[in-house]
Amino acid sequence: MQQQILIKKPSPVPRTIKKPKPWYRSAVQSFFFVLVALISLNKVLEEAGMAIPFLSQASLHAICPFGGVVSIYKFVTVGTLIQKIHESAFILMLIAFLLAIAFGPVICGWVCPFGTFQEWTGKIGRKIFGKKYNHYVPVKIDVYFRYIRYIILAWVVYVTATTAKLMFQDIDPYFALFQFWSDEVSMTALIILGVTITLSLFVERPYCKYACPYGAVLGIFNLFRIFKVRRTPSSCIDCKACDQVCPMNISVSSGTAVLSHQCISCMKCTSENACPVAETVELSIKGGAKQ
Ligand code: SF4
Ligand code: SF4
Repeated sequence: MQQQILIKKPSPVPRTIKKPKPWYRSAVQSFFFVLVALISLNKVLEEAGMAIPFLSQASLHAICPFGGVVSIYKFVTVGTLIQKIHESAFILMLIAFLLAIAFGPVICGWVCPFGTFQEWTGKIGRKIFGKKYNHYVPVKIDVYFRYIRYIILAWVVYVTATTAKLMFQDIDPYFALFQFWSDEVSMTALIILGVTITLSLFVERPYCKYACPYGAVLGIFNLFRIFKVRRTPSSCIDCKACDQVCPMNISVSSGTAVLSHQCISCMKCTSENACPVAETVELSIKGGAKQ
């Protein structure tokens, strides 16, 4: 009797790819960090008669889109901006919102020099603590702590609206970092900067995760942004590389689309970067379900 041989069709093998370490995000982050540092230093250089001419009109307040956010109430009710805030901050706020509608908080992940500064400090922490780095806060507490930034946002908007002054400057570690020598910086802001630097040695981007009111605003856009970080479960090999690399501890591997308010659109988890399987984690419009 003739034996029948069943040949099982091989299951498709995911195409794994070796990728060079991405340099373009670091280049963009470094560019904005140096630009903001030069704008800050230019005031000192001006006094010494060595000002950089094309930066003469720039200031930290003029280039901070959060200044536009805290001015919205006064702009709508009185038609003016709050003290120290320039029209450019309002325009930058609108550009940041348009970018966030399309791609989420790219300002946080690619532009904000204070986020970059925390990331650079975090590299030291990662060297010291290895795999434990960025996993010190128990998940049960961490999940609630991450909403503190919305409480801070509500407080900043309320206080700014009622006083019409840039109250946030007094607690802003970003302003303190780039103006630490100036008498405009309060002791509270310097203390918050010191705490942030220390925490960055244990937790990646602690200020972004737990305290930044501007990150809180942009994080909301993750719910309805046009291009989302999406994962294709059918080609996923469950290696968890996407989860391990996420600075914001988002579990990319457990869903099909990242909707977390904490995503900073850094793209570290994508198949361009950490995910070893081609076209499995991507920035795209279509596909995916709620994570
Ligand atoms: S690694 Fe992915 S999920 Fe995590 S913050 Fe970056 S883009 Fe968002
Ligand atoms: S990196 Fe994430 S999405 Fe990519 S194969 Fe591994 S677990 Fe799946």
